[in-house]
Amino acid sequence: MVNEEWLFERYSLFIIFHSSFFYPYLCIQRKRIMATVIYPSPIFGPVHSRRLGVSLGINLLPADGKFCTFDCIYCECGFNGDHRPHQKLPTREEVFHALETRLQDMKLNGPKPDVLTFAGNGEPTAHPQFAGIIEDTLRLRDNYFPEAKVSVLSNSTFLHKPEVFEALNKIDNNILKLDTIDATYINKVDRPTGHYDVLQVIEYMKAFKGNLIVQTLFMKGTFEGENVDNTTDEYVLPWLEVVKEINPRQVMIYTIDRETPAPNLLKATHEELDRIGKLLLEADIPCSVSY
Ligand code: SF4
Repeated sequence: MVNEEWLFERYSLFIIFHSSFFYPYLCIQRKRIMATVIYPSPIFGPVHSRRLGVSLGINLLPADGKFCTFDCIYCECGFNGDHRPHQKLPTREEVFHALETRLQDMKLNGPKPDVLTFAGNGEPTAHPQFAGIIEDTLRLRDNYFPEAKVSVLSNSTFLHKPEVFEALNKIDNNILKLDTIDATYINKVDRPTGHYDVLQVIEYMKAFKGNLIVQTLFMKGTFEGENVDNTTDEYVLPWLEVVKEINPRQVMIYTIDRETPAPNLLKATHEELDRIGKLLLEADIPCSVSY
């Protein structure tokens, strides 16, 4: 289950919460055969995990495609351009009713959720009513399952919006992506679709004063003929220094775990991830590693 054990375990080999652990349906990309993941909206799951318990997914993006302010070359939802949605975003009211209906059903019939997690077909904080939806979710959680945690997986691109920042500061697990601090690498791999200043994002992360979990994906391989290995000291050491400054309550490090839209990407090895985890522990930063 998603509990203190999960959040504060200092260095353990377990599967962290990641959207890929939900059971999605697969779609076949037209240009080349590749499994991508498009989630139902606005509610999907719940999914059982040995470590996390029962996770109920909340997807604030349309059900028929992907919308994200990044276009990561490793994204399990595929490239933005290949999965443009045609449906509208679910409204705050639609999310509220769908969530309440599902929680009522779970109250009557089970299972009891351990965590309500915002994830899915893109960036949840891009939703214009994100802050209100968080308010609703916390209220529904308190009404139906007060012990359940509320988690958000975000790429950190809307931290400059005060209402998004405040909403993330209220939830249990504020999980924010920081794959590297190298702007060139970010442009090559995370590929922001608009203005993105990693130094500014780091400052916002520091402003949470420890109330965040940093999530970082390490991988290797090539993209368009260029090396995208961020497991080497060239990337890890500057990232580590910044993570120390951010001082999160935990860092989650992981690697690609399913087919990626870009070919030629490779998983980071156990040894490489272990090495980075050890560096975090030596810096007294709680860390989880997912292989
Ligand atoms: S931030 Fe997440 S959803 Fe957005 S492109 Fe990257 S992996 Fe996909």
